Amino acid sequence: MTRHISRKTFDEVMAPVYAPSSIIPHKARASRIWDIEGREYIDLGGGIAVTALGHSHPELLRALHTQADQVWHLSNYFTNGPVLRLAQKLVDATFAERVFFASSGTEANEAALKLARRVAHDRFGADKYEIISFNQSFHGRTLLTVSVGGQPKYAQGFGPPPGGITHIPYNDIEAAQRTISKRACAVIVEPVQGEGGVIPARREFLHALRAACTQHNALLIFDEVQTGVGRCGALYAYMEYGVTPDILTSAKALGNGFPVSAMLTTAEIAQHFPVGAHGSTYGGNPLGAAVAEKVIDLVNDPTLFADVKRKHARLAEGLRQMGARYRLFKEVRGMGLLVGAQMAEAFKNRAQELIALGIQHGVFALTAGPDTVRFAPSLLISDADMDEGLARLEAAAATFTHTNA
Ligand SMILES: *Cc1c(COP(=O)(O)O)cnc(C)c1O
Repeated sequence: MTRHISRKTFDEVMAPVYAPSSIIPHKARASRIWDIEGREYIDLGGGIAVTALGHSHPELLRALHTQADQVWHLSNYFTNGPVLRLAQKLVDATFAERVFFASSGTEANEAALKLARRVAHDRFGADKYEIISFNQSFHGRTLLTVSVGGQPKYAQGFGPPPGGITHIPYNDIEAAQRTISKRACAVIVEPVQGEGGVIPARREFLHALRAACTQHNALLIFDEVQTGVGRCGALYAYMEYGVTPDILTSAKALGNGFPVSAMLTTAEIAQHFPVGAHGSTYGGNPLGAAVAEKVIDLVNDPTLFADVKRKHARLAEGLRQMGARYRLFKEVRGMGLLVGAQMAEAFKNRAQELIALGIQHGVFALTAGPDTVRFAPSLLISDADMDEGLARLEAAAATFTHTNA
């Protein structure tokens, strides 16, 4: 018997770690979504920067269906065609020479941090273990990654935390130069802080981290889980910044919604992960690899990157104009199609209310912390859909500012 499903069912059967919207999405195509009652929405959130090629892209559907007919899963006792092709493409397209696959951003970061510890241990001994990360950063939810992340609220109550982790302010070159020393095994940084409020790194900051890491034999890890796979107007944001990391993590858009992640590095560093040193049951699974291979084929295209930059300008300008009309936003910032609009002082920390009203008006957006509305639409979103999404958000903004005037 199939029982009737509603939002109420969630509270009856699900662990209460999420507070989902009252609507239940049912079907999605490109940048439009329909809920179980048939109402239609424009998706400016992209499932948190995941569906970079939109929903139900025909070529991704074909890649998934074709692989589903071949073989789903083998374990890492065997390799497979899709994962080898995917790894080859990532190696050809980036600084990397070796790839490790997992299923989520958290796991890719966990692998990166463990590898950095192991490299330092092998090369310099047991005292070089300090991991340096940044306030407000987000790197995942395992006990290590959540402790490395710079948002204490996510780590509270799970102590004792793993040791050897130091947090310093983001975009603060002086603090970084003061803190990164011969004790550091790794510095982990998001080129644009996503969850932390859509805050792009300054170019000189990333260059300074690179120089300090090189000087002190620490590995520079770029967490590109959110910024990667075309999101910032290049295959990876490091390419825009002109700063090459030692390790890069990729997830979210890599599978366009199919759970797959990757840790990219050099051959020299990767050799510190010999057989048995690390692993994952699903990592390199042929289904995920087949989808990700097609994602990379479709995204790694200079024409698409140019279009992402053009759309950034259109989205940011639309938000600035709307913000000015309603005195709604203090600042609009971001890179490519990762854009944040920080609430004006009068509406401080009320981004979530605006998002909820947006859903009522037929548009999905995201928050990034309590004070920033975040946009991470499909990189393929049409101008018409983007404009319609902005118009719907403006209707929500009118209600929001009117009710709060
Ligand atoms: C989303 C995110 C993660 C965590 O990825 P999961 O797939 O949820 O484990 C890690 N780092 C950054 C920068 C992210 O945006």
